[in-house]
Amino acid sequence: MNKYLIAPSILSADFLRLEESLAACEAAGADWIHVDVMDGNFVPNITMGPFLVGTFKRATRLPLDVHLMIQQPERYLEAFAKAGASHLTVHVETCPRLPETLEQIKSLGCLAGVTLKPATPVSTIESVLPFADLVLVLSVNPGFSGQAFMPETVSKVAQIRKKLDEIHSCAYLEVDGGISADTLPVMKNAGADAFVSATAVFKHPEGIEAGVNALRALLQ
Ligand code: ZN
Repeated sequence: MNKYLIAPSILSADFLRLEESLAACEAAGADWIHVDVMDGNFVPNITMGPFLVGTFKRATRLPLDVHLMIQQPERYLEAFAKAGASHLTVHVETCPRLPETLEQIKSLGCLAGVTLKPATPVSTIESVLPFADLVLVLSVNPGFSGQAFMPETVSKVAQIRKKLDEIHSCAYLEVDGGISADTLPVMKNAGADAFVSATAVFKHPEGIEAGVNALRALLQ
């Protein structure tokens, strides 16, 4: 397994060519497929649910890294797990009983991830870091792909990296939003080890494989 992981965000793929897009990610050596689930409530946009996760599952062997931007995520965890999610990441802003929610995810056989909006301070997730398999830092306000990277989120990654190291956690530290050839090295230096990328992979002028390869080259 790679030390640094690339997770193309399927939301930016051409949905009329899903199967070949997933195959291209796999052929290029992408590590995970990131799935941005939005409910039109926690975030303004509406995207996809367990049905599409099940569809992706039939088309790829890559782990499905599912990011739940939805209210009351605990109502849907089982459905996403059954559909084939490998990781389920929930927002601290939506989980009044976050430790229980992370336990619920683990009991479903998935890696348990926690994430926070750019405006939410790291202190809100600090107490659950020992229970998290994955911590996701959003470097844009969630809702739409193709938004500009927020540089102030770099220090948040560094802050969480420090806290994870202090507790000897092996959790993945993933970044999501505006990750490109320009911003990836900055996030890597801050301590991130998994990189969600949407536009830089799926809208690369030379195609998906070239997009993954260009990011991989920066991680050697
Ligand atoms: Zn995401």
